[in-house]
Amino acid sequence: ARLANQIAAGEVVERPASVVKELVENSLDAGATIIKIEIEKGGAKRIRISDNGSGIAKDELTLALSRHATSKIKDLDDLEGISSLGFRGEALASISSVSRLTLTSKPEAQEEAWQAQAFGRDMEVTVQPAAHGNGTTIDVVDLFFNTPARRKFLRTEKTEFSHIEEVIKRIALAKFNVAFTLVHNSKVVKQFRLADTPQKQAKRVAQVCGNGFIEHAHEVYCQHDGLTLSGWIASPQFSRSQNDLCYSYVNGRMMRDKLINHAIRQAYQDMLPADHYPAFVLFLELNVKDVDVNVHPAKHEVRFHHGRYIHDFIYSICHKTLVEQAM
Ligand code: ADP
Ligand code: MG
Repeated sequence: ARLANQIAAGEVVERPASVVKELVENSLDAGATIIKIEIEKGGAKRIRISDNGSGIAKDELTLALSRHATSKIKDLDDLEGISSLGFRGEALASISSVSRLTLTSKPEAQEEAWQAQAFGRDMEVTVQPAAHGNGTTIDVVDLFFNTPARRKFLRTEKTEFSHIEEVIKRIALAKFNVAFTLVHNSKVVKQFRLADTPQKQAKRVAQVCGNGFIEHAHEVYCQHDGLTLSGWIASPQFSRSQNDLCYSYVNGRMMRDKLINHAIRQAYQDMLPADHYPAFVLFLELNVKDVDVNVHPAKHEVRFHHGRYIHDFIYSICHKTLVEQAM
């Protein structure tokens, strides 16, 4: 069992940042509004995620650590309209097979908290009582300790942590109604407070993208025919020589999509200096039936059923916003 899970882990668990992404997405799926991410040594020593979500009942702990037992896909209909972030049912089992993982949880309706851990080649799960408030903590210690080839591929502490930071930034922009705290080696590195007003949202965007971005950004909002585009695009003067401030989301998921990027680039037309990238944070919302999310965990790709229409929708709104602001 451990070996099969380790092979599966090759797909999902590339580096500490991928562990963080999977675990935070689980917390979001569980409805958490407060999520704390504690990292030691770039995640190689420890990744601990605590949330105030729905928790896992005692008799479901074992299942949660088993592969495919808990997939959130229940039937083919779900496949079409995947709305929850996790849908493969193997992240916990995979991570647990390549680390020392403990899962501690308490649903509100349950009196005590319980803790589960998988041991040995067969990944037998043991469950014991624990102290924990409502919600879940997943503690991942010594990532890749038993897969030395993988461990060798880890970069410096600083590099691995910067990947984690990027994951948290992307998620923080998508989830204004969730508070995040990111701690590295016992120091609070990022603190995103609940952003439930437009002012607080702009503040969070400034925290992620810098004050310069928000000062040069124009707000975008348009709703038409079941499509909604909202967010911020920076004026051409704030363009960058790197594409490090290109955040686009489709139905709450961060995407790097050619069609979206092309539409935005085109909106700037010849306003952009050569070899420069626009800076933007944009959210596209559409019916889940009109978009296919690539189920490969590492890719951030979508396929729109009416691509041309969506392209022109994004292009025209962004172009109009930029032209009006230039006048
Ligand atoms: P998936 O998210 O694809 O279902 P995972 O392996 O990521 O599979 O998680 C397994 C299961 O464990 C989830 O389906 C969920 O029921 C439970 N779970 C994991 N993390 C949490 C959490 N933070 N809060 C509540 N339940 C969780
Ligand atoms: Mg998951």
